Amino acid sequence: MTEVGIIGGGIAGLTAAIALARKGFDVTLIHEGIKNSNSYLAQAGIALPVLEGDSLKSHVLDTIRAGRYLNDEEVVWNVVSKSSEAYSFLMSLGLEFEGNEVEGGHSFPRVFTIKNETGKHMTTLLYVRAKELGVNFVQGLAEALAVREKRAYGVFLNGELMRFDASVLAAGGYTALFKYTAGSELNLGTLIGDAVLKGAPARDLEFVQFHPTGFIGRDGVKLVSEAVRGAGAKLVTEDGERFVNELEPRDVVARAIYRQLQKGKKVFLDATGIEDFRGRFPQIYAFLRKEGINPEKDLIPVFPIAHYSIGGVAVDLWYRTAVKNLYAIGEAASNGFHGANRLASNSLLECVVSGLEVVRTICRDRPRVRETPEIEYSGEEPGDVGALRELLWRYAGIVRNGESLKEGLKGLEGIDADTRLKLLARGILKNALIREESRGAHFREDFPHPRKEFERPLFWS
Ligand SMILES: Cc1cc2nc3c(=O)[nH]c(=O)nc-3n(C[C@H](O)[C@H](O)[C@H](O)COP(=O)(O)OP(=O)(O)OC[C@H]3O[C@@H](n4cnc5c(N)ncnc54)[C@H](O)[C@@H]3O)c2cc1C
Repeated sequence: MTEVGIIGGGIAGLTAAIALARKGFDVTLIHEGIKNSNSYLAQAGIALPVLEGDSLKSHVLDTIRAGRYLNDEEVVWNVVSKSSEAYSFLMSLGLEFEGNEVEGGHSFPRVFTIKNETGKHMTTLLYVRAKELGVNFVQGLAEALAVREKRAYGVFLNGELMRFDASVLAAGGYTALFKYTAGSELNLGTLIGDAVLKGAPARDLEFVQFHPTGFIGRDGVKLVSEAVRGAGAKLVTEDGERFVNELEPRDVVARAIYRQLQKGKKVFLDATGIEDFRGRFPQIYAFLRKEGINPEKDLIPVFPIAHYSIGGVAVDLWYRTAVKNLYAIGEAASNGFHGANRLASNSLLECVVSGLEVVRTICRDRPRVRETPEIEYSGEEPGDVGALRELLWRYAGIVRNGESLKEGLKGLEGIDADTRLKLLARGILKNALIREESRGAHFREDFPHPRKEFERPLFWS
């Protein structure tokens, strides 16, 4: 029987695990705590164009508009048209959504939500169902992919080779490589860098989405989701001045806030007009109260934070990488679905669709490892991750320019960190330097407009 190893226990990995187990595959899922994922933290919900009055075309157009026309249109149609399959899959697990919200960039209230803690409910249920189906959960951080001559044989865990016929990278993105993020600190992208080093190129690395309304508190970085703005909260400066349409796509709102902060102003979210904030956004209410803020009465100080990595290991329509028997799904993968900017709540859709699709691909490919060659262990200590996070925040943050990106590349040489993390950081800086234009999540103050000649460069190691 084909043995499949999945690295990462977020919604993408768990979806693939369930779909594989339902087809009778022998599935092992390596994870470092199911709660330790960005999936668990997802607040607003999952975009699904399945309600009456909505249409695939409308969702496709919203996705491409938000992506600033850099999306691969075939991929967008492919993912969006599988949303009813994704919905049926979630229903078959017994998931119950509570309602539908509008989020920035969507022209229809198609974001399915559960108490603004959608990720927590989805992840927990998927985990329970995967367990019931006999998926073998192994706790730990995979240190490296086992690849020889562009063919994958499994992964290294605790220094030992775990052999798989097919390896599915579902370890999330690389937002934790930036100083401020509300996501899991484990999402450094080590295995994305590892995949690049071993022959699977990454793409679109310069596109890192900054969420406009992060909250940097005593208890760490948290997120005040877009749904709060969808429900009517306004962005204001300390003088009470509104300066942006709150429902514009994230990049526009994040830069508008950044400009106010650059002027030395403080920026707040005024949610005092929302009826029953506590009931509608219990998770956000709880962490704000812990920080001494009552959003029903007080203004919430906000700050843009690294939120979503659009780039990742390049995959085709079937989630195959350039390394044989190595697949990538969810935020770890990149195939042009999001273009230059991810439309809100499209990533959970992508997680479920890619998780289901990769199973069909594995069924078709029938990967089989007959003999495992000698493969040298290639794990490394992370090293000075703090310095890398500072550097990317400073030189490849919300607003970039050629000089600062070159500074960043120079500074990178002096940092003592894992080769794979440095490779990934170099890819982000280099791609951002090459892209002499501004588009979506990538903003260059020295090239403030989109330029036709800039198509997606691939980043090879
Ligand atoms: C605060 C927050 C709110 C969000 N809200 C929404 C939302 O409302 N809607 C939406 O669509 N998107 C949202 N997003 C984005 C979305 O949550 C993620 O893009 C998505 O969940 C990614 O899922 P994934 O399965 O690909 O990866 P993840 O959920 O990040 O899971 C990857 C897992 O792999 C593990 N891992 C990493 N490296 C290794 C390794 N070497 N070995 C083993 N395991 C490893 C990680 O610990 C993690 O558990 C939000 C993100 C954040 C941070």
